[in-house]
Amino acid sequence: MTLPTDGADAASIAAALQAYREDDAPTTGGRVLAYVYDSGIADLEAVGNAALTAFSGVNALDPTVFPSVARIENDLVGWGLDLLAGGPAAVGVVTSGGTESCMLAVKAAREQWRADHPDSPRRPTVIMPITAHSAFVKATELLDVDRVMLPVDPTTFQVRTSDVAAALDEAGSDAALVVLSAPSYAHGVIDPIEDIAPIAAERGVPVHVDACIGGWILPFLSQLGYQVPPFDFRVPGVRSMSVDLHKYAYAPKGTSLLLFSDPEYRLNSYFAYSDWPGYPVVNTTLQSTKSAGPMAAAWAVCRRIGLDGYRELVLATRRATDAIIAAVDEIDGLRVLGQPASTLIALAADGPDGVDPFLLADAMSARGWFIQAQPGVAGLPRTAHLTVQATTLGGIDEFCEALRSAAAEAAQQPWAAADPQLEAAAMALDPSTLDLATVDALLKFAGLDAGESPGLPAEAAGIQALLEALPTQLRDTLLAGYFSAIFQPSREPAGDS
Ligand SMILES: *Cc1c(COP(=O)(O)O)cnc(C)c1O
Repeated sequence: MTLPTDGADAASIAAALQAYREDDAPTTGGRVLAYVYDSGIADLEAVGNAALTAFSGVNALDPTVFPSVARIENDLVGWGLDLLAGGPAAVGVVTSGGTESCMLAVKAAREQWRADHPDSPRRPTVIMPITAHSAFVKATELLDVDRVMLPVDPTTFQVRTSDVAAALDEAGSDAALVVLSAPSYAHGVIDPIEDIAPIAAERGVPVHVDACIGGWILPFLSQLGYQVPPFDFRVPGVRSMSVDLHKYAYAPKGTSLLLFSDPEYRLNSYFAYSDWPGYPVVNTTLQSTKSAGPMAAAWAVCRRIGLDGYRELVLATRRATDAIIAAVDEIDGLRVLGQPASTLIALAADGPDGVDPFLLADAMSARGWFIQAQPGVAGLPRTAHLTVQATTLGGIDEFCEALRSAAAEAAQQPWAAADPQLEAAAMALDPSTLDLATVDALLKFAGLDAGESPGLPAEAAGIQALLEALPTQLRDTLLAGYFSAIFQPSREPAGDS
């Protein structure tokens, strides 16, 4: 399809875009327990969107031309540092999301390591548990630094302090950063930050606390009297923290904070360059030209809600979390993994005859609830992830009833396993030489739709089980191939015109 020659009118444009959303999961209403965050505050979306629109054309590349950018950013960073106990020297930056915050945290550590080891022919190493967000794997790949991935304790799902200490000893002067989560996305548990950070600090290695998903929850939980282990800048050795405003601050997508203990350390994340014939460039983030819309929207949403408002939202969210945990306790064959520290829950089978989380997710889908299947890889159990949100509380009885009946239904079935023919076909492939036509054929064979309305079939457990069964490299190649098939330009076939 070529871009039509005639311009269209506003109403038909809005209608066409709305029609594109037809098959989207709902972003409000509390029935989707991953990817979206719904506060339930009636005018919040309007307040955020008004700011988003008002600032959409402001270029946050240059605060000297658009001083509003610095005012908004300094407020947001100040609010974040207040919540996360930043010291008097602490600073930060507003980024486009958690991944960018994690990326810049690794960049800061890399530059610091290089500055501290000017003559070293060696490469810096990032030490992290396998439960660290995949954004850190991406960061180490893009920034070309080495990484050491540590296992987690099989009952608490936290990294062990002794393992981190041993990894630090082993890496010696190569160690550039330790990454810990507060909490981890997959399991919702907090690493032993208070034990580990001082050990890293003793060796001069900075610690990044990834509070992308917990940073706007844990401080309020603590204020509400819940037990929260020290996880923020109060812990000596914590040099940077990430917290996503587009998660539990309920801001529209596109805003995260990366906070630093001090401005010297933050400088490592900047890019400054003036030796080209264009304008002198200072980029405080990976992007250069960027819209001030998302940060203005985050500012508006934070102001609309306020500290009291967030406390109420967190209380509602935690009550919903506790209600789900209590319900799961009563369900045969299902358990909550580890100790959920905030408002994330990972559901796993209880015992060898327990409920298959993949089948549970399918059975929940059939009942109109989305919970997220997480494969059992790297020696960790298969789970179903729940991002509980403020609106979950309103429908909590209905949710728990759905969970009970979904678990009962799933308990009747054998665990999802890969179709043996499909698995054999997949295993015969060599990911290093795999071409996209072969990937396409396999995807079709597997019943995966990459056409008009891409997505998993209603019963996805078999596909999840297939992916889980495959070696990592093959799995990643197939997943990338699937997205390559989804993203095909809408054009007329050649020679048609
Ligand atoms: C969401 C998340 C990220 C990545 O954030 P994006 O905003 O999706 O880029 C990183 N770490 C944790 C713990 C997260 O939950």
